Amino acid sequence: MNLSPIYKYGEEQNSYCQKIKDYYKNTLKIENPKAFVKTYGCQQNVSDSEKYKGMLINMGFTLTENQNEADVILFNTCAIRENAENKAFGNIGWVKNLKKTNPNLFIILCGCMTEQNSIIEKIKLKFSFIDLVFGTHSVHKFPKYFYETILNKITNKKSSAKNYIKETEDIITEDFPAVRNNNLKAFLPIMYGCNNFCSYCIVPYVRGRERSRNSAEIISEFKKLLENGYKDITLLGQNVNSYGKGLDENIDFPELLKKLDAFEGDYTIRFMTSHPKDATNKLFDVISESKHIAHHIHLPVQCGSNRILEKMNRKYTKESYLKIIDYAKSKIPDIIFTSDIIVGFPGETYEDFLETTDLLKKVKFASLFTFIYSPREGTPAAKLPDPVTKHEKTTWLLELLKVQEEISETLHKKMIGKTFKVLAESFLPETNELLCRTSGNIIVEVKGEKDKIGNFLSVLITNSKKESLKGKII
Ligand code: SAM
Ligand code: SF4
Repeated sequence: MNLSPIYKYGEEQNSYCQKIKDYYKNTLKIENPKAFVKTYGCQQNVSDSEKYKGMLINMGFTLTENQNEADVILFNTCAIRENAENKAFGNIGWVKNLKKTNPNLFIILCGCMTEQNSIIEKIKLKFSFIDLVFGTHSVHKFPKYFYETILNKITNKKSSAKNYIKETEDIITEDFPAVRNNNLKAFLPIMYGCNNFCSYCIVPYVRGRERSRNSAEIISEFKKLLENGYKDITLLGQNVNSYGKGLDENIDFPELLKKLDAFEGDYTIRFMTSHPKDATNKLFDVISESKHIAHHIHLPVQCGSNRILEKMNRKYTKESYLKIIDYAKSKIPDIIFTSDIIVGFPGETYEDFLETTDLLKKVKFASLFTFIYSPREGTPAAKLPDPVTKHEKTTWLLELLKVQEEISETLHKKMIGKTFKVLAESFLPETNELLCRTSGNIIVEVKGEKDKIGNFLSVLITNSKKESLKGKII
């Protein structure tokens, strides 16, 4: 039993897919309609786009990388920072012209941006040529809404169908068709939404409340991925460490990991994102005893100042964060840490910022995702006074990147002479090199044959660079 409603993708949506297929074939006389999907933002969006692609194929579309030849253009948007929204609006503005050469072109906008009322108002005002707009709560009904949009357009004989969908129910969908972008690495969502309401973050407002998938569904999907040859599987959720809440089975994230680790064969389990407030010792105990869980943890700290962490509503301190890191290192000596940092939260001073660089030096992250704070309308932080200029925040960011560069370089140098088990992921014909990944998520370039792709190799590290390693197969 799951306390969140579950929708099984199947007959209902498939019948809309068939109607769309018939419409293109019989009414528009297009034998091979093409769809272009543009994805912005995080892994969750990449995973959602794989589902949109699966549904579009069910509707009879072929996927194209060229938006100029598409009959459907779908933008799966991100709302996490203002520049992600600006980028999307820039591209959407550009494709308007394509309607002149292809009057049957459908432009669809979905994802996190469209869950915000202010964005919907802007679309109605300036981007009314978009045919269908729907949010993250309606992914599972995409075929239905697209079919209704088509009917609208036929009936109204207008250049745009202007179909705006607003739904709010937090559900879990199972049995989506999906086209995966890669045949070795896969994303597997284990939960949706977020309950943490960090004061700067829009995610809880656009993705709804936290809800976990039943473990049986996750295990079955995981097993199928292994059977289909996937070697590196990333479990997705905004806070995987709180997996299991709201389920009436007795399970938490470490227990789920144990079940997934129990399959035979050579594969790696990764996960993101872990919230430090819920990272327990049990998690690291399970990783240290496992056969397949990566020795890498992405543990976003955001900031090193306790004063700012409190204003961010992160619910941990610099000291408690360092305690987690110490415990993890004691159980898994070769563990690699990466993190997210926000520079320039409202009210942050240079002294606060120095607490962050101090933390970086103590933890020794291998790499970071760094962001300048971006005010998000409707979040508590957006109402706080923010006296530091963008220019000053940029100087702090550059200073932080310099500190991190030295840490990464030193960490990589220490790996020279060591042997790692790596997965060969791709091949560079120009240099005859394989691009491989360590369990700690570091890229290693090695001379090798293309047919090694998909194999785990033993590699001796011979040299290091700022962002990657060089090695040879042994
Ligand atoms: N759930 C994850 C966690 O709590 O660590 C993070 C998910 S969020 C998609 C990815 C990152 O975006 C965050 O860790 C944070 O660093 C950054 N971020 C979120 N809101 C932001 C904002 N308003 N301005 C700048 N960066 C932001
Ligand atoms: Fe945003 Fe915080 Fe939720 Fe992560 S945990 S998605 S940063 S609110």
